[in-house]
Amino acid sequence: MEVTAKYELIGLMAYPIRHSLSPTMQNCALEKMGLPICYMAFEVDNASFPDAIKGLRALKMRGTGVSMPNKQLAIEYVDELDPAAELAGAINTIVNKDGRLIGYNTDGTGHLHGIKETGFDPKGKTMVLVGAGGAATAIGARAAVEGFKEVKLFNRKDEFWEGAHAFAKRVNEKTDCVVTVHDLDDTAAFRAAIDSADVLTNATKVGMKPLHELSVVGDASWLRPGLVVSECVYNPHITKLLTQAKEAGCTTVDGYAMLLWQGWEQFKLWTGEDFPIEYVKEKMG
Ligand code: NAD
Repeated sequence: MEVTAKYELIGLMAYPIRHSLSPTMQNCALEKMGLPICYMAFEVDNASFPDAIKGLRALKMRGTGVSMPNKQLAIEYVDELDPAAELAGAINTIVNKDGRLIGYNTDGTGHLHGIKETGFDPKGKTMVLVGAGGAATAIGARAAVEGFKEVKLFNRKDEFWEGAHAFAKRVNEKTDCVVTVHDLDDTAAFRAAIDSADVLTNATKVGMKPLHELSVVGDASWLRPGLVVSECVYNPHITKLLTQAKEAGCTTVDGYAMLLWQGWEQFKLWTGEDFPIEYVKEKMG
């Protein structure tokens, strides 16, 4: 690839970020489609985010991906918000449309796409959603919009706990889905919720390095055939939760599916072109 003066830039602003597969994936698609655009990861945390956005505007970048820990903060720095992102209270994509920054969230649509690929119909179903950060709220919001009857959100009582309640209030006011918030440390309530759920989704950092030896469920006996277990973590590819789920005979959806489908939508938003998904899948193994 010869990078000429015609090339434009899309960024990815997160910290830490050197582990991310998004640059490999997006650059693979950009090159395949012959587009003069590069996708580059930048180490940007909450403190440097405002300056990074000034830089994006000054350099007339096409836009940027936004990841941990900036997904909630980023909302304050865009000029316009997509309604699904507003419901989630978090964005993972900024598009620079002639100087106007628009915030989107493709994590939810990407994750739901992976679940529906297994033949699952969201209408009237119940999800147990573990997590209350950027990925979890995006998935919960999208699940509500796509017809889930109930989302039972479990999180530990950490810095995300208050936000979880605000998120539940927002979705309950604006959709027909009922969102309730529960303490992840209440093991009896968590197990009972899994017993009556159609989908169990992990949207926490549990399972991701350095927490790769952990799972949000105790063991495979908490799970059963017929339950769909979906994972956000993609590093490692098969997490401990997915191993437990396979052992219990569940239908499983790994974090790669979410990565690919959320990237598919981002690519369209930034370039207006189709993401060559089969080519990217093959190249990324
Ligand atoms: P975030 O920082 O916004 O949220 C982190 C969440 O993890 C919170 O709910 C927090 O309470 C929980 N958590 C952290 N440590 C925990 C622990 N020890 N025990 C229980 N809960 C714990 O992060 P995010 O952006 O929402 O990302 C969450 C996960 O989803 C990460 O692993 C990230 O890599 C993954 N992710 C994957 C994709 C994809 O395309 N596959 C996209 C976005 C995020």
